[in-house]
Amino acid sequence: MEMMDNIFAKRIQAVPRSFIREILKVSLDPAVISFAGGLPNPAFFPIAALRQAADQVFAEKGIAALQYSSSEGDIGLRQLIADRYLAKKGLTVDPDQIIITNGSQQGIDLLAKVLLNPGDRVLIEEPGYLGAIQSLSLYQPRFVPVPLEVDGLDIPRLQSVCAEGQVKMLYAVPNFQNPSGLTYSDANREAVAAVAGGHRFIVVEDDPYGELRFFGQSARSFAHYLPEQTVLLGSFSKIVAPGLRLGWIVAPGWIHEKLLIAKQAADLHTSSFAQAIIGRFLHNEDLDRHIAGITAAYGRQCRALQEALARNLPDEIRFTRPQGGMFLWGILPEGMDSMALFAEAVTEKVVFVPGDPFYTGKTGTAAFRLSFTTVDAQVMEEGAQRLARALAGYRQKLHPRSEDPLPVPRAR
Ligand code: PMP
Repeated sequence: MEMMDNIFAKRIQAVPRSFIREILKVSLDPAVISFAGGLPNPAFFPIAALRQAADQVFAEKGIAALQYSSSEGDIGLRQLIADRYLAKKGLTVDPDQIIITNGSQQGIDLLAKVLLNPGDRVLIEEPGYLGAIQSLSLYQPRFVPVPLEVDGLDIPRLQSVCAEGQVKMLYAVPNFQNPSGLTYSDANREAVAAVAGGHRFIVVEDDPYGELRFFGQSARSFAHYLPEQTVLLGSFSKIVAPGLRLGWIVAPGWIHEKLLIAKQAADLHTSSFAQAIIGRFLHNEDLDRHIAGITAAYGRQCRALQEALARNLPDEIRFTRPQGGMFLWGILPEGMDSMALFAEAVTEKVVFVPGDPFYTGKTGTAAFRLSFTTVDAQVMEEGAQRLARALAGYRQKLHPRSEDPLPVPRAR
């Protein structure tokens, strides 16, 4: 309805539509091999155990599980989460610091509500999680991208952008980052914390993938260095099931107070029924064993994809080497556009997510995201061959008269 164009708030007008949706439409064709989705593999959703937990909740709690409950979330569940921080990360967390949220995505939204005025500067990894870019965009911040390197944030750049003006928050995914699969080293975390400590902005550590480690040692949380300045976001989406919409925020008291008001205002509380089910599930099951099964499978899929890419694609396309998580990041040679490669890939019936949506204010980027979680190891070879053909087709269009337009496979 044209004449109603300016009825919308400025905050929504500026937010781009998610490109992922467009890709998902293409992926519906069963002939397409999709590295695009970024979904956890549903083969690991613990259906039987969740069903049993739900039955027990009805039998044991009855109608109490269906009544309104507190905005913070169930105390038993918060205690379990606090215990896990101590066991897995050596972090002492008081259950009173925790708010149960509708996934960690809601945690990002609540933080933005509490911290951001239009025009406030927000530091974000480049490339960054597109769901955070979208969620934060609604609060009209000024994004300041900080490049992500193999071992974490570009520290000189971080220092210089901090020197240029006040920063409200840094949003970071330091373990097996979405989209790059990169992990910050201990030294990098310490250096980031030193800068943040000097400038007193909030460090948001979003860690939905941290428990999905294939190899290597886990590094320290920012909360070790900056307990009063760090907010942790966590989620059951990748380690149990995303449809439950269960995540959490851990915040120091002075921020927690405001977040709780924002949570109350947003939706009163996260589903008490879903919280009761996961609480019972965690009581009944060995979560570590469950996670070990997911991690072993993702590790195998990741290796299979890496090997297939190495066999089929030329060396000049570089890939990250993730220590865990769900994503690989490919970087094309300078001057190539991953969106154009995507168009070729669709015709070859293989899809991925081109780089652009992971950047704020940049297009024509040369990088792209591959997710390996829902592609069987046996299909990786075919997927990589299709990518190689798409690349050859793209090059042919870029250099139509080239003598040798085909990528040269690595000698192996
Ligand atoms: N943060 C990151 C980095 C993610 O990749 C995702 C999901 N793709 C989320 C947050 C949101 O997860 P959820 O809301 O399901 O916990």
